[in-house]
Amino acid sequence: MCASKFVNDVLCPNCCHVDTVQKVSAIVAAGTSEGVIGGRTLSSNYNISESEWSLGVGSFAGSSVNTTNLAKKLAAPELPPSPQANEMGCLAYGWLIFPPVFLFFLYLQERDRTKYRQLVQEWEPRIKTAKEKWNCLYYCHKCDGVFLPGQVPLVSIDRMGDFLYIDT
Ligand SMILES: [Zn+2]
Repeated sequence: MCASKFVNDVLCPNCCHVDTVQKVSAIVAAGTSEGVIGGRTLSSNYNISESEWSLGVGSFAGSSVNTTNLAKKLAAPELPPSPQANEMGCLAYGWLIFPPVFLFFLYLQERDRTKYRQLVQEWEPRIKTAKEKWNCLYYCHKCDGVFLPGQVPLVSIDRMGDFLYIDT
């Protein structure tokens, strides 16, 4: 275990550095910025008269959430989004296409919702605990791993997900 001159210093348990260490929640907050974007992008177009897809360069403008790769890797544990998002689209298509298709969509949605409710019941307490742990995590830029202050060993960034759900 590394020893520090200052009580409040958070040291990396692998390289014993202070200056390469940053709180995970701070990295994610700094690496996720919402803003206006603009630029050139590849776009795909379907040309009806020639019946073919073509790739072209176009410009785009809009707002987006920009997340750095590191912030993405270190993101807090969350439940997957609820399956209700596509509800309106499914209902409309169902009526337009064929009533049995509509009923099938309803069946699928109900099945998805039941599954989701079970998932939430099962995972919510675990995700809550994992999130509390995540809030205490630090990341070492030199070693590319995460750790809890005062604990060894350093956990590789790719194993952070598993680490959050292990009781410590
Ligand atoms: Zn380190």
